[in-house]
Amino acid sequence: MLKNLKRASLCVQAGYRPKNGEPVELPIIQSTTFKYDNSEEMAMLFDLKKEGYFYTRLQNPTNDAVAEKIAALEGGIGAVLTSSGQAANFYAVINILGAGDHLVASNEIYGGTFNLFGVTLKKMGIECSFIDPKSSEEEIQTAFRPNTKALFGETITNPGVRVLDIEKFARVAHRNGVPLIVDNTFATPINCRPFEWGADIVTHSTTKYMDGMACQVGGAVVDSGNFDWDSNASKFPGLTTPDASYHGLTYTKSFGKKAYVTKMVAQIMRDLGSIPGPMNSFILNLGLQTLALRMKQHCSNALKVAQFLEADPHVAWVHYPDLKNDPDHDLAEKYLPDGSCGVIAFGLKGDRETAIIFMDSLQMINIATHVADARSCVLHPASHTHRQLSDEQLREAGIAPDLIRLSVGIEDVSDIISDLSQGLEKIDGSGPELRRI
Ligand SMILES: *Cc1c(COP(=O)(O)O)cnc(C)c1O
Repeated sequence: MLKNLKRASLCVQAGYRPKNGEPVELPIIQSTTFKYDNSEEMAMLFDLKKEGYFYTRLQNPTNDAVAEKIAALEGGIGAVLTSSGQAANFYAVINILGAGDHLVASNEIYGGTFNLFGVTLKKMGIECSFIDPKSSEEEIQTAFRPNTKALFGETITNPGVRVLDIEKFARVAHRNGVPLIVDNTFATPINCRPFEWGADIVTHSTTKYMDGMACQVGGAVVDSGNFDWDSNASKFPGLTTPDASYHGLTYTKSFGKKAYVTKMVAQIMRDLGSIPGPMNSFILNLGLQTLALRMKQHCSNALKVAQFLEADPHVAWVHYPDLKNDPDHDLAEKYLPDGSCGVIAFGLKGDRETAIIFMDSLQMINIATHVADARSCVLHPASHTHRQLSDEQLREAGIAPDLIRLSVGIEDVSDIISDLSQGLEKIDGSGPELRRI
């Protein structure tokens, strides 16, 4: 029955279905371990011959219910929750890549992922080539090598708010016999389901819209079950040959379409252990229940705010894919027909200081290293999240030094616009006095 439910219904109903006399709200099973009556039963669990709970690092009923809801929302075959979005992207890659392997990624991605791929994976012997996502298929193809094992992009980029041509990326990935991994954090499955466009694996920072209230840091990896690992067996020995660390079982043989997601729990989570606490998963689930409702409000507010900014004389440029004359509007109409997200990127006429005067003048809108929650907030990546990057690296990551990231919340849109408006007016009066604040 749940398979045919619409997304707003899945937000509320998927994952946990109480039985007779059970609580309607998802119980928080805050326990590290689970008790069994005899050792034989326990042994079966360890051999993966029987399903059941034994240790929360591997499985926990609260975490699993929330993972199942996210898998249902994305239309995937299974999902794994992680303790952060960073862990989700790391796990999505490390589950199929090892030392000596190579990854191709869009250069317009979240700063943390850019560092993870460009710096930390490199130390582990995994190389990443960054490509401009607007390049042609032929140009993207030139980045591929015989040892390339995956292609990576973000549905809507953070912080540039650019839209990924998912079908183009999927074609290039599949032509090379590798999966497409898409970080769907900003769009959420309410606005885009990358599996419907050919993506094979989806990742999330659930810290953002899925939680929506800025309460917990979390992540998720969702498996479509569609990638044919066996047809590309030599590229993915971790899935297609016996795992000596797990009784010599071969994931594709034993788990078929669920090979990737099962390996991630049985091997990667077992060894690296970035699980969310059940309490955090409970909080995430509260957020998920209103995700469809909130995304609607975020998008309708953001469109009005983007139109306001576009018309303001202080504003040099605005990127918001739902704007008719945005360069990504065609892609947004195709992939994000119900709206994109609540995040807007824009630049002010002036210098770095102008951006700072504007942001420091805001009264309701917070300056916060966050995005995609109920409260409106702003950030200037060049002076905040990306300050460790040089100008050259900033440009490489597709970030203009004057870019202001505005995350439009679910407040009354007239209050958001009033606050922006008075902030923009302060730029005019910004003599040396104001500049000192
Ligand atoms: C925030 C974010 C991440 C990292 O997630 P955390 O939960 O902060 O670890 C990854 N990708 C995108 C697109 C993000 O916005």
